[in-house]
Amino acid sequence: MSTYKPTIGIEVHAELNTKSKMFCSCKNDPHSSQPNTNICAVCLAHPGTLPRVNSEAIKKVLILGKAINGEIADFSEFDRKQYFYPDIPKAYQLSQYAYPFVKGGKLAGVEITRVHLEEDTARSAHTNANDTELNASGHSAVDFNRAGVPLMELVTEPVIHDANTASDFVKELQLLLRTLGISEANMEKGEMRVEANISISATDQLGTKVEVKNLNSFKAMAQAIDFEISRQAEMLDKNMPIKQETRGWDENKSRTFSQRSKEKADEYRYFPDPDIPKFKISEISSFGPESLSSAIRDTPENIRNKYRDIGLTEIQTETLLLNPALRSFFEIGFADIQSEVKGEEARMAANYLTSDVLGLLSTKDETSLSTEAVAGFVKLIVMLQKGEIGSRVAKDLLPQVLFDLKDPEIIAKEQGLLQLSSSDDLKAVIDNVIENNPKVVDDYKAGKEASVQYLVGQAMKETKGSANPAVLLTLFKEALK
Ligand SMILES: [Zn+2]
Repeated sequence: MSTYKPTIGIEVHAELNTKSKMFCSCKNDPHSSQPNTNICAVCLAHPGTLPRVNSEAIKKVLILGKAINGEIADFSEFDRKQYFYPDIPKAYQLSQYAYPFVKGGKLAGVEITRVHLEEDTARSAHTNANDTELNASGHSAVDFNRAGVPLMELVTEPVIHDANTASDFVKELQLLLRTLGISEANMEKGEMRVEANISISATDQLGTKVEVKNLNSFKAMAQAIDFEISRQAEMLDKNMPIKQETRGWDENKSRTFSQRSKEKADEYRYFPDPDIPKFKISEISSFGPESLSSAIRDTPENIRNKYRDIGLTEIQTETLLLNPALRSFFEIGFADIQSEVKGEEARMAANYLTSDVLGLLSTKDETSLSTEAVAGFVKLIVMLQKGEIGSRVAKDLLPQVLFDLKDPEIIAKEQGLLQLSSSDDLKAVIDNVIENNPKVVDDYKAGKEASVQYLVGQAMKETKGSANPAVLLTLFKEALK
């Protein structure tokens, strides 16, 4: 097989989490369990109705543009993209062609071509002859709850050359959309959908590009890209031409399949929508640079820098980024802390949050971590750092502090769990353990040094983990001299 260089461009559609739809005041809730409940004459395209633009949606696209250092358009407009399909009630989709809201920009090292805004389509469901779900066989049904939901489309330059980079890019975009509060971007719910344009070439010229649609998970995207690269290489090896087409991804067979030949832009007969006013962005104050900057509280990049300065590890930082509930918990309790002593507490807190707390949450739902528990958690970390409790006790107290909102100081006292560090506190325990373990004591005295660890373990058990193991070790060594 000859060697070919793959080139990949990515297109991502993401539903924006605005309150209402893009061109009417219907609730933006495409997942509503009852079909056709969030609909009106506008999003059903009844004759004589007129669109009204949702400025919240435009602002969200501009915020994203700012966050990726894109160029915010000064002039913009919406175009009609004509195509006939049952899930497009108007027989055209309102989208943007010549004047997208954002041009250029960069994310995770990948150059962005543009970001534009359009409306989502309705959702259709097809039954086969044996299907009884719709109470009828061989029917198609359309749910218009999704019709008119604001949908942003981000297109990258063809600058990616392997599946991993493509996957990393889309993950970073998902994280950015969520951190900016623009979109929930769940791929499995269809809130974020990915298409990959893939070509291969043995020369510096780009090859014929094939578009793969319906990639609804990171895994599907990576597999589809790898599959296409091999499929196209086999074709070229056999001197067969690659057809410019749109292909789907078959999850079960792990392969792409031909759907249709690719439409060219002119087949959509784009033209500016005459019912929607043009935008002179610089004349709209809520779209101005200050307004956009102040709407960006955090980006994944800012958060990474901040956490690096506090001294968190990369794994801790990424875990917090991927778990918004844990991150807000951390932010409230610790992230404002700058001094070195407090920095130690912040690192300790991040460690507990990304290991023990994450583990505890795996059996609960996200909402079980209430911000009311932050104060107790901070206290627990301070007690731990001062050596008032040991790490084993801290782990035991954690669920009570987090989920029952108990005060760790009070329960530690009540249950006799405050760490015993003074030799007076521990003398009786040491004597007792020595008396009950004569064989181990003999071993130690005969030179088997490791035996002392067993004695420390017994003493920890006797004190229900409340003793300081380092202090115990010293005391045992002294007692057995
Ligand atoms: Zn509507």
